[in-house]
Amino acid sequence: MNRHATTLGALALGLPLLLAGCATHDSSSSASPSSSASASATGAASWSYTGSTDPEHWGDVSTTCATGTAQSPINIDRTDLTHTATGVPEIHYQATTFEVENNGHTIEAAPANHTDNYVVIDGTQYFLQQFHLHTTSEHTIDGKHADLELHLVNKSADGAIAVLGVLFNAGAVNPTLAGVFDSMPKSVSADDHPEPIPGTLNPADLLPAGSEVLEYEGSLTTPPCTEGVRWNVYETPGSISAKQLSAFQALYPKNARPVQELDGRSVNEVPAP
Ligand SMILES: [Zn+2]
Repeated sequence: MNRHATTLGALALGLPLLLAGCATHDSSSSASPSSSASASATGAASWSYTGSTDPEHWGDVSTTCATGTAQSPINIDRTDLTHTATGVPEIHYQATTFEVENNGHTIEAAPANHTDNYVVIDGTQYFLQQFHLHTTSEHTIDGKHADLELHLVNKSADGAIAVLGVLFNAGAVNPTLAGVFDSMPKSVSADDHPEPIPGTLNPADLLPAGSEVLEYEGSLTTPPCTEGVRWNVYETPGSISAKQLSAFQALYPKNARPVQELDGRSVNEVPAP
């Protein structure tokens, strides 16, 4: 679709910023949960979810957070969707060893390599870099939050980002995430010292089977709020146990950016992958 091609072209220009933010993979390992410090491309700058560096002030860290017109997350109104049957994400995930770290903003798990797991959208391969968690959910569907939202961050060879978002509500235990919750560090991980998760984890098992996918063009949901991110939010929520949810919330009681203006964007619903 043309709107994707245009945005992804622009995205490549912002490449140096892309692994920070929603993909806080390598930028903030020395931060503490209380200070939530994070390095930006222009130097040390702080952001958090509460207090004087909360989302209302993220424009001080990156102007895009305040002035962008394609920001994430959003509320998805299911009475106002388009239905173009292109862009269905093809999932090529497999059982893989992962490591987990506490980066000061969330718990994040990264695969042992960035070649074994990828998705294909409109012919482009996006390789899984990491997944991480937010509570409550960041996206809302018909105005309602879920308890938790998982973001699988995938990157193409030219640096374009496609995120798979899955909402979770408290209910049955999630066996796929058990190793993540069991291994997640309680305090912020030292640089390059993630914890190995025992065994393997197949990220495909995190995706609700048979769920339609809600697609739109948005941004990283954390500074620098870089736009050109291709969002794929699964419409059917998954389940985690109340104990799993509370274990994460004990570390991060709330790490969700409020929903942003649509600014004329549309959300397209595609069939289940
Ligand atoms: Zn995220």
